[in-house]
Amino acid sequence: MYHRVLEKKPEKESRWHYVTVSEFRKQMNMIERWGYTPITFSDYQLFLEGKLTLPSRPIIITFDDGYQDTLENAIPVLVELNIRAVIFVMGNRKLKSARWDELDDLGSCPLMTDEQVRTVQKMGFEIGAHSLNHTALTSLSKIDMTNEIMGSKEELEKILGSPIQTFSYPYGSVNERVKKVVSDSGFSFACGVYSGAAQFSQSMMDFRRLAVNQDTSRLKFLVILLLPYQYIEWLYARLKNKMTQDIKMEVQSSVQPHSKNGTIKPESFDVHNMVNPNSL
Ligand SMILES: [Zn+2]
Repeated sequence: MYHRVLEKKPEKESRWHYVTVSEFRKQMNMIERWGYTPITFSDYQLFLEGKLTLPSRPIIITFDDGYQDTLENAIPVLVELNIRAVIFVMGNRKLKSARWDELDDLGSCPLMTDEQVRTVQKMGFEIGAHSLNHTALTSLSKIDMTNEIMGSKEELEKILGSPIQTFSYPYGSVNERVKKVVSDSGFSFACGVYSGAAQFSQSMMDFRRLAVNQDTSRLKFLVILLLPYQYIEWLYARLKNKMTQDIKMEVQSSVQPHSKNGTIKPESFDVHNMVNPNSL
């Protein structure tokens, strides 16, 4: 899962999730060198229907948010190396830049225009939806959630004239309620961050993704590619949450009276509600 691809590192400290073009090119070369074949969710759909055989090491490369730098900096590299990818864009086509990602002193993060989204699709890249306005969906009422999810599908289908079948949860914010609305809205696939099933085909509404950003060294990239890194990350998140819960329990038991039966029920931990800071 990629976000921004920049020509060079920003001069100031940034909370943008980015890779530089040269690093991105090296990562794409590594994907080729290690025998991976990038596919799209459309390919995966054809595989499920028995119409396509998948290569031995399929991989899906995704970009969230639909930044103009995806078009300007990532796509030339992908075209040159003949690599396909999936780009999740915003359904609210009035959004000209990624407000949620902007800091006062770092300038704006322009998003692709309708025309650019159409061009990218014509080049063979798959377009998916990323809600209308980049809202954390778990916090919304059913009506607002449906509007964000179904609305983004409708708006994108209007400008592209073809069905949108894949969704990506803003901030990786997802639970069973959100998944149901995404599924009911007609999406075939949806991507979380690392909250979902660890392998292809376990949950179509929560594909696990791994973030690649400025902190991803080449060694880490290789580890992500070759080892079951997703299990390690998932286990780490669970342990971290368990420790936080234990500390909370200790604080609670020292300041609050115990309930009638002498115990305090810990807040239940739902891995699906976990929001990864890398998932902006
Ligand atoms: Zn996003």
